[in-house]
Formats: sequence, structure tokens, C-alpha cells
Amino acid sequence: MPPPMKIVRIEMSALKTKVEGSHMTSTVDISSKESCIVRIFTDDGIFGVGDAQRPESPSAMCYLIRDVLAPLLLGRDPRDIEELWSSMYTVLRARGRTKGFTIEALSAVDIALWDILGKSLNAPVYRLLGGSCRATLRAYATEVMLGKPGPERLQDAQGYVNAGFGAFKVAAGINIDEDVAFIKQLRDRFGYTVDIAVDANCGLTYNSALRFAKSLERFEVMWLEEPMPPEFIDQYVELHRGTSTPIAAGESEFTVFGFKDWIGRNALDIVQPDVGRTGGISQLKKISDLSGAYGVEFAPHCGHGSAVTYSATAHVAKSSKNFKIFELEQLHNPLREQLVLRPMKPAQGGQISIRDEPGLDIELDEAFAKSCEVLSLSA
Ligand SMILES: [Mg+2]
Repeated sequence: MPPPMKIVRIEMSALKTKVEGSHMTSTVDISSKESCIVRIFTDDGIFGVGDAQRPESPSAMCYLIRDVLAPLLLGRDPRDIEELWSSMYTVLRARGRTKGFTIEALSAVDIALWDILGKSLNAPVYRLLGGSCRATLRAYATEVMLGKPGPERLQDAQGYVNAGFGAFKVAAGINIDEDVAFIKQLRDRFGYTVDIAVDANCGLTYNSALRFAKSLERFEVMWLEEPMPPEFIDQYVELHRGTSTPIAAGESEFTVFGFKDWIGRNALDIVQPDVGRTGGISQLKKISDLSGAYGVEFAPHCGHGSAVTYSATAHVAKSSKNFKIFELEQLHNPLREQLVLRPMKPAQGGQISIRDEPGLDIELDEAFAKSCEVLSLSA
């Protein structure tokens, strides 16, 4: 039997950074990126690192973890992840807090617990999730944004191809006729040698989404992402049935309980849960397994994420049989580029690899983290 281990302290750090360039989609335009970094310390010296995915108010996340989740964790064995996740979720569910900020806070804690488990067993986290399904992860570049002239957007796409990516994503959904014309320009330039994903960021109605999806069929896009708001699963079922363009969604959904409706009702070709929103590594793996059982592909959402959520996502992707492709943001994001000592960089062909180091192999740049810290709390 391994010796007992206890959680003795939890530190939360709210980070905020400005971003440059256009980050404009059909429904939002952002000018900052935020993180709530969680460090969970144990009585034998091991600590784990976690993060929620771009919580607009990282300070609120710090208070949530200190006041609601930390009392359920202190003194407990951090390796009992399933039981700890369940006990935290049970408290949150009692008042309907099964989505949004509360589950994002739970996500950050869960990621840190997996980091501790890996370090305690001297194993990379993907090994504990079933092992390796592939040597490297194929990645696509995010994203050709809206909010700039067509020639500049074409140049952005060319830049991703020049950098070695064989796939990239295009923001769309404000004017679908212009979007279709832009996709045609991309096909004219690159032929069918690159994969193109199209993201409408929930900006369309059912009728316009159906017209858009059918217009995209001849361009054989990799998928049409979040054409409509996530409240309308019935309309997704109809859309999925009515077009050969693959339909993807999931970055706005939470936990395997939320995804079972989408997957069980045959609403999607591809699920896109986000590790820092949907309940952490524990839930990301369950969602990948559930979708795999229904023949649905798994392309986890990562855009806007920090280096911590990128690493956590990569470990699940490496161990998931139905993994399709990895989202690697190429926009300015200091929390992806500067928060750790070894930021994720694609090799030629847009391939990502993970080092065989214990846990999630996250080494924070503490000086950088301190430079953009807006709140620090502990429990
Ligand atoms: Mg998206």
C-alpha cells in the first residue's frame, strides 16, 4: 500500500494580461486573457498545478475555490480524484451550479489533482488515462479572425500554412455570403491540401445555419463549429441530419452530464469540450469515451487557454482513441506563450509532442506569473 498523502494548502492566483491584434468572432471580441492558477500542496512535498479556462473574472474564481471547494479538499488524499470530484460536484449541484464559473473552478482543481497523481507515481498523466494512442498530436492553427480586410485574412491563413500547419480555423457567422466567398478564395489558393474548420461562434439562426452548412458542402470543410447557440440541441439534431458538412460544438457545454444529451441525441459529428471549463481532465476523458462509444470524434477546445490547460488537454488527447485534431492558438496570448518555461510549440507539419515527464510536465515561470497577478488567496 502506498503511504497516505494529504492536501495541506491550496493557493489561488488570478492573472490578467492584455492581448494584441484582432480576436474578433461573430459574437465577441476580447482584449484580455485571464487565468486562475491553482497550486495544491501535499504533506509529502508534491504539489500540482491547475487552471480554469479564461474565466473573465479570475478573482471570482479564486474566492470560489477558497470558500466553496477548499474545505472539501483540505486533509483529503489528493489521489482519490473520482471521489473528490464527486463530492465537490454534489455540493455545487444542490443549487443548480452545474455549469459556468463553479464547474470551471472545479476544472482547475481537478487538473491539479491529476498533476499530483502523476508526480506521485512518477508517470506522465496520459499513462494513467490508458496510455498512448499516438506518438504525436496533429494540430490546427486557431484562427483567421474577423474584423480585418479580406486580403489580410488571406495573409493570416497563408502564415499558418507557411508555419507548417496542414489545418486552420476561420471565424465566420456575421455575413455568410461573404464567408462562403472567403472559403472559396481559400480553396482557390490552397486547393484541398489543407483542412479548413469554420467557426460561427453561435451567431446564426437555424435557417441561416442550414443554408451556410449546405453552401459549405462543396468546399469539404473539416467542420462547421457552433453554428447556433448551445440552448438549441433540437435544432442541432435537425441541422446534423440535413447536411453533409460535419457539425461540431461543445466549448459552451459542461460535464459528461451535459454532453450526454448532445451525443445521445445524435446532434454532432465532433465534440469539443474544454478541459478548463467542462470539469477538468476527469470529465474530458469521460466525454471522449462517451463520444467514442457513439462514433463521434473528439477535437477538444483549447482556444484562449493558458499553457496549463494546453498541457492538460494534450495528455487526454494522446490517450483518446477517437481524438481527431488538437487546437493550437496562434494569436497573441501571453498566458500560453510566457506562463511556463517550455511553451508548447508545433514541429513541422503542425505536430505536437508531449515529454515523458511526471504529471503534466508544467513548470511555471513564477516571475511572469507574479508580473500579471491581480489577486492571490490561500486556504
Ligand atoms: Mg469555437
